[in-house]
Amino acid sequence: SCDTSMASQLSELNRYPFLTNSDAHSLGKIAREYTKIKMDHASFAEFKLALEEKDGRAVTGNYGLAPRLGKYYHTTCEKCGVRPHAPDQEECHVCGHTRMTKGVSERL
Ligand SMILES: [Zn+2]
Repeated sequence: SCDTSMASQLSELNRYPFLTNSDAHSLGKIAREYTKIKMDHASFAEFKLALEEKDGRAVTGNYGLAPRLGKYYHTTCEKCGVRPHAPDQEECHVCGHTRMTKGVSERL
């Protein structure tokens, strides 16, 4: 539920290259997110050079689902998935559950 422009708002991450990958527990969504990397050939040594942006190797792009379409973009009730009326709302106005999953946009 994040992209490079969102993640780069966190200055402490500026020294790291961003990688985008789909997770493996949703088989139908594998490769929905991916990273384009410039390397001479596929190897761990080349991958290391790309992460360090050395010798012309680099991460050249991150691709995937638009963050706003992600399941965890906004804060939602852990039980019913409804968005709270206010960011600091402690109880779900629909089901009364008291735990919210804080969304990526609110964390940023
Ligand atoms: Zn709820």
